[in-house]
Amino acid sequence: MHRFSYLAWLALISLSFFLAERALPARREQPTLRPQLANDLVLLVFNGHLWAVLTGAFTGWLVLGANDVLERLGARPQQGLLSGLPFPVQFALYLVASDFLQWCVHNLLHRVPFLWSFHKLHHSARALDWVVNFRFHWMELVVYRTSLYVPLLWLGGDGQPLFAVAVFATAWGHFNHSNLALSIGPLAYVFNSPRMHLWHHDASDEGGPAKNFGIVLSLWDWLFGTAYWPRQRAPARLGYPGDDEMPPDVLRQELFPLTRRR
Ligand SMILES: [Zn+2]
Ligand SMILES: [Zn+2]
Repeated sequence: MHRFSYLAWLALISLSFFLAERALPARREQPTLRPQLANDLVLLVFNGHLWAVLTGAFTGWLVLGANDVLERLGARPQQGLLSGLPFPVQFALYLVASDFLQWCVHNLLHRVPFLWSFHKLHHSARALDWVVNFRFHWMELVVYRTSLYVPLLWLGGDGQPLFAVAVFATAWGHFNHSNLALSIGPLAYVFNSPRMHLWHHDASDEGGPAKNFGIVLSLWDWLFGTAYWPRQRAPARLGYPGDDEMPPDVLRQELFPLTRRR
């Protein structure tokens, strides 16, 4: 698995979804060359590679500091809790633990006005395809990573299963945003899906203003009452009320939460 870098996996996954969307589109009327596509491809490269490397270095440094503090407090297990367990067990436990944490963070991104101003960029997409998975503000990676690393560090474990979870979560995020007519049947009660995530991007507050926060797993939404699964397959409009405020170019989008008039 480690033979390929994350960037190589990202390219491979992206190409697969590009081809799959051509073969099996859910919304045939949606143009491939939609508005904002070039913009979102720039964000894909920035968030998926450049910024990921930079924040990786930053959070790595943070984690080393946290590691030190935990050790001094005697709170860090001598050996990671997961270290040495079989690969599939570590993979499953990492996936469930990190996904639940991210589900909590995603809730906060919607419910705390300051954080919502950063998350607006992701929700300003007027149409969904796999590229939208990486249409988000640089601050989101900082928030997600710093909240994830310390508990995951405490769980310990090996690099390979963690890397595998990162690749798997990327593929599933592409899937959730893809314009792909692919149903996962009753698995939709455990895993997120394009149909469910489309409603997360609904511009109206039908079914409550905040719904379907799942990243890889939809299980948390079903358990905690934030799941929304109506009969009709798609919302009337994607976006958020007032999304005209979002500037059309990457630079101003990145500066948007800091420069908007109050
Ligand atoms: Zn959201
Ligand atoms: Zn989304």
